[in-house]
Amino acid sequence: MFGLIGHLTSLEHAQAVAQELGYPEYADQGLDFWCSAPPQIVDSITVTSITGQQIEGKYVESCFLPEMLASRRIKAATRKILNAMAHAQKHGIDITALGGFSSIIFENFNLDQIKQVRNRILDFEKFTTGNTHTAYIICRQVEQASKQLGIELSKATVAVCGATGDIGSAVTRWLDKKTDIQELLLIARNQERLQALQAELGRGKIMDLQAALPEADIVVWVASMPKGVEIDPTVLKQPCLLIDGGYPKNLGTKIQHPDIHVLNGGIVEHSLDIDWKIMKIVNMEVPERQLFACFAESMLLEFEKLYTNFSWGRNQITVDKMEHIGQLSVKHGFRPLLV
Ligand code: NDP
Repeated sequence: MFGLIGHLTSLEHAQAVAQELGYPEYADQGLDFWCSAPPQIVDSITVTSITGQQIEGKYVESCFLPEMLASRRIKAATRKILNAMAHAQKHGIDITALGGFSSIIFENFNLDQIKQVRNRILDFEKFTTGNTHTAYIICRQVEQASKQLGIELSKATVAVCGATGDIGSAVTRWLDKKTDIQELLLIARNQERLQALQAELGRGKIMDLQAALPEADIVVWVASMPKGVEIDPTVLKQPCLLIDGGYPKNLGTKIQHPDIHVLNGGIVEHSLDIDWKIMKIVNMEVPERQLFACFAESMLLEFEKLYTNFSWGRNQITVDKMEHIGQLSVKHGFRPLLV
């Protein structure tokens, strides 16, 4: 059985969906209540591969909210993730994806040091960040959506916002090795990590966001920001492809311009309907077919009975591993969401 650990994008979002999920007692509650709420299994899922194979899974709502980080309720945030992992393990789940901020919190606060949650010893082999599949899907979105829009990669400048992150660094490795993009712009705040990435790649211009935006034909957004940034669309090139892989979204601006194309990054479409509630709740446009690529990674590992933490740690995703998970993705009927 596979598992998905997820969270909602804001307190407002959480309050709105509590009612829908059948938890009216959560609907009027503030952040303090969510800080003490235990994890819940709120969805049971059956997925069918195009090979005909069928698997079962559970969605575990961790009750983490991005406002917990913004208001420095770090202890609550870390407790949410560990409790959700223990909950998944207690329910016999063989492989669970840590969606959205779950893996970021796990890494940033060194939760691998805390193996025991009450009477349960966490077995980290049973968890995956899902980031290898997410990075693979975003790279395929760059390749395929640029083609649809008539942006030639060999003449294109690609900016990666969040380049030094787990997903961002994997994306830069793929773009460097597997495509002929002309120029790579590396954006993040910590300069040391940017320089280390630039040295590893042997290329890439380190830039701040405002300087990079007017130069980019394609912007990949994979920064771990609890709230989206506002950008001025008039500074962007036309055409421009913006692939927003953040959860919550990195882009706070709603852009409506015929030559500026915003694509939901790191999202896959399955070839067959999935009977579940959860993707409707996170406002996926076609909830029976579309899902986060990190969640799809745990499905792929379940289909293949690969009960191992396929994606783990930080900045260790290789192009070979992306190709491996990519082959499984195609085999079981997932494809990148396109424009
Ligand atoms: P990491 O924490 O590994 O990396 C985050 C990156 O963002 C770092 O490079 C960090 O560098 C940078 N960053 C953070 N804040 C800012 C900022 N204000 N301006 C510029 N850069 C910034 O995160 P992941 O790679 O694991 O995840 C990235 C995003 O992808 C998250 O939003 C996550 O929720 C989302 N995600 C989406 C999935 C999907 O299936 N679609 C799956 C998993 C994650 P620095 O701190 O130096 O600025």
